[in-house]
Amino acid sequence: MKILRTIGDVRDAVRAARAQGHRVGLVPTMGAFHDGHLALMRHARAHNELVVVSLFVNPTQFGQGEDLSSYPRDEARDAALAEQQGVDILFAPEPAEIYPDGFATSIHVSGLTDVLDGAARGPHHFDGVATVVTKLLGIVRPDTAYFGQKDAQQVLVVRRVVRDLNLDVRIEALPTVREADGLAMSSRNVYLDADARRQAAALNGALSAASDLFASGERDAEAILAAARRVLADADVTPEYLELRSATDLRTLDRVDEDALLAVAVAARVGAARLIDNHLLKGAG
Ligand code: AMP
Repeated sequence: MKILRTIGDVRDAVRAARAQGHRVGLVPTMGAFHDGHLALMRHARAHNELVVVSLFVNPTQFGQGEDLSSYPRDEARDAALAEQQGVDILFAPEPAEIYPDGFATSIHVSGLTDVLDGAARGPHHFDGVATVVTKLLGIVRPDTAYFGQKDAQQVLVVRRVVRDLNLDVRIEALPTVREADGLAMSSRNVYLDADARRQAAALNGALSAASDLFASGERDAEAILAAARRVLADADVTPEYLELRSATDLRTLDRVDEDALLAVAVAARVGAARLIDNHLLKGAG
């Protein structure tokens, strides 16, 4: 596995692979790898001849008071884990390589970014995500880019950018990888102390209770949300948001008669971490 720092070096490596007719897969990450990241890498490995993983803690998607400076960073560990998954290139640029002096462009996706994490973290968050992902797609020009369904709103935003800007790339979303007790794996789980870790398990517990009610035939959004709310309250967890929205455009739903995203976030109250999770409710047909 090569560790590359510059856009020019990545372009040269991708060009050489393409000249041999190789398919190129990209997995964008911010590092601090866990099994969720590794599953994306293994999937990319199985479907492409060249696998590029980007490792970049993107400053523009963090807001004031968020955890940019304390975000877990361990490149040597990450490089070893990526290499074990058969990754070919780890693209780990310095911030100035991605945002040189005079950088002035931002990609804003309206509508989709006004709700859920866009509302909770502010508009800069998804502008930062959309801009850096667009740059990474432009740098690597992969056939397929792989994302985790854990960040479901991010997947929707990226798909919309690709569609609206006619980017020639396939976006694939892979299922959320979880700990044994159901907690969605996250680089931020390292912030949790033992008590917070127990409370954090209530996120998936709440989503599961709601999903079970949906599976038993309930279609009323308020009833489904109430089931989730009860589990959170029992664990003494106050959600930053708990919402049921269309899985295609994030409209609020009164009834789940189409595919829906049941999304929850807990901010900074569970220890020092901000945690998000979601379940997809298959309401269509
Ligand atoms: P991050 O490094 O947190 O920005 O995540 C990089 C990629 O890994 C994103 O596409 C995330 O959605 C994905 N990811 C993060 N956690 C998980 C998880 N538990 N299961 C599956 N994918 C994940």
